Amino acid sequence: MAKTVTLLGSTGSIGTQSLDVIRAQGWRVFGLAAGTRADALLAQIAEFRPRYAAVADAAAYQKVEAALAGTAGAPRLLKGPEGVRALAGMEGAGTVLNAIVGIAGLAASLAAIEAGHDLALANKESLVTGGHLVTDAVRRRGVHLLPVDSEHSAIFQCLQDTHSAKRLEKILLTASGGPFFGLKAAELQNKTRADALKHPNWSMGAKITIDSATLMNKGLELIEAVWLFGLPPEKIQIVVQRESVLHSAVQFADHSVLAQLGVPDMRIPIQYALTWPDRLPCPVPELDLAALGSLRFATADEETFRCLAACKKAIAKGGLAPCAANGANEAAVALFLQDKIGFLDIGRLVEGVVDSQPFGGEYTLADVYECDAMARAYVAAHAPAL
Ligand code: NAD
Ligand code: MG
Repeated sequence: MAKTVTLLGSTGSIGTQSLDVIRAQGWRVFGLAAGTRADALLAQIAEFRPRYAAVADAAAYQKVEAALAGTAGAPRLLKGPEGVRALAGMEGAGTVLNAIVGIAGLAASLAAIEAGHDLALANKESLVTGGHLVTDAVRRRGVHLLPVDSEHSAIFQCLQDTHSAKRLEKILLTASGGPFFGLKAAELQNKTRADALKHPNWSMGAKITIDSATLMNKGLELIEAVWLFGLPPEKIQIVVQRESVLHSAVQFADHSVLAQLGVPDMRIPIQYALTWPDRLPCPVPELDLAALGSLRFATADEETFRCLAACKKAIAKGGLAPCAANGANEAAVALFLQDKIGFLDIGRLVEGVVDSQPFGGEYTLADVYECDAMARAYVAAHAPAL
């Protein structure tokens, strides 16, 4: 039977690659949700004919509504972040693939889980900001949480042998190192938005591309891995793998190491999250190791890349500290993308907010949003003027 998918963040980098997979497999799209890109969403609606479409941005919603007025077979439209959340929780949604960027994805993740849908999760910020809410809900509702992030998909794939998985001892979380690998603070000081947007191996949305340059992405992924796989952060080693071909590895009690490899193309982890536990042919080229010749590994430099150090401190503090780190990062990256702060300011601001309070302890969803707002206010108050 054809699979049914609801895709949130359909116009983004993961969103469009997900539609490539869905197209190739001939799966059914129940719902599409997007933020601002009305024209791209309209083209997707015309091709995939979803029953529902949700648009978070008010102006984009109006544009989509006007364009579809009187069109036969047009989807029912849902408006605003409320509409996106409602779509995620709708009966018949199938597997919900959340490819929204930022904490904006958290409410939809929770709505999908509460409605009993399996959740294919690209939106790592859901786990970073509300990890205990998300994992508690998954347990309570008995749904599957399927990682889309390439590293976490790799780890998940390496843990499919449940006997071995019980003897998991360590995770080797790989990082490309980003465009500024090997550079020190003095050389990073004047790096611009354009420099930071040039990722060596992956083509991704702007926010995660900056996160890859600062190594915040690896810090977020460390926290994501703690929630997904239940190992303490000190059992997760970050290893630079320059080619982004070895997507992560696991080490068992006998010191045997298992890794997952493939060309750097997100369609493999996206498809695996949707076909798990099965595998199907995928529209991605084969990995040619002989042509590649070698794989280079190195240590991640958290002395220089303070976002990574800040995320380690945040997960050690626990509670809402990772949420604060994430909120500060989202606000700081937005300022950096507007050329309002320097590259190194991002790390200073994220570390500053993590150091500003003890955090720790249990939290509710309301506490998450309050902490996120606090972190954004911290950045607004402490961002240096360029
Ligand atoms: P992107 O910026 O390219 O796309 C984001 C999408 O979310 C867009 O469709 C945008 O319209 C939509 N959106 C934004 N706010 C929304 C809201 N409130 N409601 C509904 N839709 C909203 O980002 P991306 O690179 O595709 O990344 C998406 C997520 O996947 C991020 O959490 C990122 O960390 C994660 N991820 C991305 C990659 C990658 O290769 N791009 C790899 C691993 C993980
Ligand atoms: Mg990743």
